[in-house]
Amino acid sequence: MSTDRGKEGYSIFAGTIADMSWPAVEAAAQNGTAMLVPVAVIEQHGPHLPLATDTYGAHFLCTRIREELAKVGVEAVVAPPYYYGLNPTTGMFPGTVTVAPDTMVRILTEILLQYAGWGFKRQFILSHHGAPEHNQAVVEAIQAIRAQGVDAVMVMGGFIQHFIEPSYTSVYRHPIPLDDDALIRAPESAETKAARKRLMRSDWGVHAEERETSLIMRWFPETLDPSVDIAQLEPVLPPIEEFNRAAANHGWRDLSPLGYIGDPSVATRENGELYALEAADMAQAIADFMALRPSRSV
Ligand SMILES: [Zn+2]
Repeated sequence: MSTDRGKEGYSIFAGTIADMSWPAVEAAAQNGTAMLVPVAVIEQHGPHLPLATDTYGAHFLCTRIREELAKVGVEAVVAPPYYYGLNPTTGMFPGTVTVAPDTMVRILTEILLQYAGWGFKRQFILSHHGAPEHNQAVVEAIQAIRAQGVDAVMVMGGFIQHFIEPSYTSVYRHPIPLDDDALIRAPESAETKAARKRLMRSDWGVHAEERETSLIMRWFPETLDPSVDIAQLEPVLPPIEEFNRAAANHGWRDLSPLGYIGDPSVATRENGELYALEAADMAQAIADFMALRPSRSV
């Protein structure tokens, strides 16, 4: 699996087990290799970004984490991205796909159990989507497979973790009930902090904004619509309370007719490097976690 993303980053199968043969998967599974599982959605991301922006983000982080882990001698594989998730707030835009919570929990659980059945009993699940309902479904799937002896762990890191943060009780009706054995919170390194300070030009944004636009510009430029001039997009920066109210009352499209919340116009390719730094932080946290907590099931 090459790491030359300039050529192959466009495919969400690049660097995942979907591009491997079954004997190669069997060999990896029998070695006790860890599995990284990208979980995201297909969801509108403004007039300038692809529907699969979150899926590309989860894919990028997981494949990059795999490369970082390899540098410290930890073998891992990446699952094909899971992307039929929950989008309760942006379903009024064509292109947003959403399924019922029970559907997502069931299919994700079945898929993860199958991976475990092949031998991938240590799984690290990474969500790149902020909807609380979506992440609650991820947690329920993790709990379901942990109950069957699979060592599944949710990984939270990078800027995206602020949208998943379970202590935001105004957004989450129930805090995410995962104990320390099932949840990694990757701390941000000094290098990442400094780079964020240097590269970020907008103060606030949650969706298809500077962060996500930079991600796509840097790592998946093939998916940008060349007819949209990103630098000309007007910022949409409502107060957070107004945004939360709109999100809770099916008012997203009224608040932002084009679908983004934040300022995509200041995005840069260089800013996309933040994602690589965040992946390195997450890889470090996973390696530390594995060293401290040898798997109970491998
Ligand atoms: Zn997104």
